[in-house]
Amino acid sequence: MKIAIIGGGAAGLMAAATILEENADAEVFLIEQNTGLGKKVLISGGGRCNVTTGIRNMKFLFTRYPRGAKFLSSALYNFPPEAVYEWFESHGVPLKIEEDLRVFPISNDGHDVVRAFEKIFTKSRAHILLSHAANKIERADEQFVIHFKIDPAITVDKIILTTGGQAYRHTGSTGDGYAFAESLGHTITPLAASLSSFIARDAWVKSLAGVSFEYVGLHTDRGPLPTPIEGPILFTHHGITGPAVFAFSALKAFELATPKQPLTIFLNLFPDKSPEAFFTQLQVACQCNAKRSIENTIATLVPKSVAKILCTLAAIESERHAAEISKKELEGLRSLMQNLPVHTIGRGAGDEFVTAGGITLSEVNPSTMESKITPGLFFAGEILDIDGFTGGFNLQASWATGRLAGKSI
Ligand SMILES: Cc1cc2nc3c(=O)[nH]c(=O)nc-3n(C[C@H](O)[C@H](O)[C@H](O)COP(=O)(O)OP(=O)(O)OC[C@H]3O[C@@H](n4cnc5c(N)ncnc54)[C@H](O)[C@@H]3O)c2cc1C
Repeated sequence: MKIAIIGGGAAGLMAAATILEENADAEVFLIEQNTGLGKKVLISGGGRCNVTTGIRNMKFLFTRYPRGAKFLSSALYNFPPEAVYEWFESHGVPLKIEEDLRVFPISNDGHDVVRAFEKIFTKSRAHILLSHAANKIERADEQFVIHFKIDPAITVDKIILTTGGQAYRHTGSTGDGYAFAESLGHTITPLAASLSSFIARDAWVKSLAGVSFEYVGLHTDRGPLPTPIEGPILFTHHGITGPAVFAFSALKAFELATPKQPLTIFLNLFPDKSPEAFFTQLQVACQCNAKRSIENTIATLVPKSVAKILCTLAAIESERHAAEISKKELEGLRSLMQNLPVHTIGRGAGDEFVTAGGITLSEVNPSTMESKITPGLFFAGEILDIDGFTGGFNLQASWATGRLAGKSI
């Protein structure tokens, strides 16, 4: 049987390795338009490659996928994070779980992850077709003909489409697979960027570039979030970024954030305090620092640069003594500290940037990854309408769906 895997990223690598290790008779063609394999794997996790997660509770694991969690069930139970962990270790890549439960190679080098696959391919009879850009797939009776931009076409019995999403297009993930899937009868959901930072309109935000908070709550007035978002954020020269911002961007991936229609993100700098308790804390701070300026008093709770901006936004002269601040003014400050509006007018690249949306999941069998429309066609990885938060969840989904597609074939 001839099997073509189009796309040599995480999902394609795992699908190819699975077939080669489990089906000695298969003739495998791994087709990749780049000159090397796993280009995105190599830049993932800042080059360290956050291969999977240390989370072992499957119920909790599913909450890390804003889209596609239910569909992923079979794939994740078949190849859960601990199995991925063992797989890499048994293929010569020792791993470690960091405090925040992200899993990395001990070497902190994504090259080791890609090398593990290259070793499998060198030992096999696989055809690794690098610098081969597929540009059309045709159905010919029960088979598929793959046409290339330059090279001669090949005919195969089965195809696994693992061309990824369309984020970081310079890595080769140019979204070609969506057109291939459409030509074979599939529909593509609307697409959007997820795990992105946000560009802010407010000058004060940019003036805080470099300031970070370890634990901030995020919400918006554009509808409730399905799950509360709390975590680290960082102010940048453009706006806001950081794990909590990425999670927020995933949950609101399809909300517009443009100069004409800004998306207001409210930051709660003290998310574990009720408004009443926090107001009382501010009152006590003002009493204890009666002779100090309000700016310096607030600066006992937040960085000084932030305290200055809070005073400006609340229209309170920062030099006034804390004792002089009225209840109403203090409530204004409290409200800002727990509801600080950032008006975002665009999205920037995150450090783990993925495409939300993709192949419509109802058209794919979740137990096999095979198309329900075109038998013999399989999907795996980011091309599917599946995406996760930061923390190794996207690679985990790619390994698991790639493995399931390979096993099914
Ligand atoms: C900067 C960055 C950092 C990230 N860090 C992490 C992380 O640490 N942990 C994590 O879990 N996730 C991370 N992600 C997300 C994760 O890398 C992706 O979700 C995952 O790699 C998707 O794998 P894939 O195989 O589906 O697609 P891809 O890795 O995108 O692979 C698709 C492949 O298909 C090839 N291709 C496309 N079209 C064609 C064609 N026409 N012909 C031939 N070949 C083609 C491409 O060249 C590419 O190599 C990160 C993403 C980015 C952008």
